[in-house]
Amino acid sequence: MCEKADDLILGIDLGGTKILTAVANSQGKILSRDHSITPAKKGYEAVIQSILESAHRALEQANIAISALTAIGVGAPGISNPETGILFTSPNLPGWRDVPLRDIMQERLGKKTFLINDANAAALGELYFGAARGARNFIYITISTGIGGGIIIDGKIYGGAIGAAGEVGHMTIDDDGPICNCGNRGCWETLASGTALAREAKHRIKEGVGTSILKYAEGDVERVTAQVIHNAAEQGDSLAKELIARTGYYVGVGLANLINIFNPELIVIGGGLSNIGDMLLEPASEVAGERAYKESFQAVRFAFAELGRNSGVLGAAAFALREVKRGKDS
Ligand SMILES: [Zn+2]
Repeated sequence: MCEKADDLILGIDLGGTKILTAVANSQGKILSRDHSITPAKKGYEAVIQSILESAHRALEQANIAISALTAIGVGAPGISNPETGILFTSPNLPGWRDVPLRDIMQERLGKKTFLINDANAAALGELYFGAARGARNFIYITISTGIGGGIIIDGKIYGGAIGAAGEVGHMTIDDDGPICNCGNRGCWETLASGTALAREAKHRIKEGVGTSILKYAEGDVERVTAQVIHNAAEQGDSLAKELIARTGYYVGVGLANLINIFNPELIVIGGGLSNIGDMLLEPASEVAGERAYKESFQAVRFAFAELGRNSGVLGAAAFALREVKRGKDS
């Protein structure tokens, strides 16, 4: 990026459970950060209010007035159009329908604002400041409660007709599989996400399979999470290891599809489940190698995301800066 280092941008990463807000400069340096809970169940107004409060706290912490910002970038989950700034729908934000989120933020904060899908933002964050620096054709996937993605072609986010491309988590892997939050059946995220891993573990525990997983969940089956299963696997629990390998298998099936369709040079894997590391990636890579074209598989490199929780805010900020400069240039 060729912008001046003194461009300051407010990045907002709106998630279904958390809101992360940060003031950053054009080099990706974070000057301040605020972290709060998304009151998703309290509805739309409450969420907007929480974003505004978080934004003000981040600005205050950095000792920066809104007027000193170049722009604001909002990354939000769900299907949205960056051109119109409308968030159509989001499985993580119940009740949100066709919300003009960009204009609302712009009006209430009084600064030029841009909206982008959260996973696309994270992909841009990794492209500008993280594991994908210098890449031209790569795919970012984030595996946590669901699976999100961003497709970068020739150094740019591929948005598709209405900006909704990259919903890799909703490609059908099993036409008869579990029902997904999106309403479809057997989407990738119903089989290869942290939610899917925890669901399988709960199911097997309730069936009476012997395992130490419960020990790591305070004896409460409802507290079994991907993290708990990872902890048990690290201590050698065979069910935990089997379930992680099974999740890795499904991760690999989806990766094979992406490799065959896009022939990327790089796939960057982020999100909470990527913390499991090689225990997940090894079976995934093996299955992808078996299923994808050999030549395409040999051409792809896998990397873990480098920016962690900051990829979304940094990517939203970078996107806003790029868009505002693009507007000035044209
Ligand atoms: Zn789905």
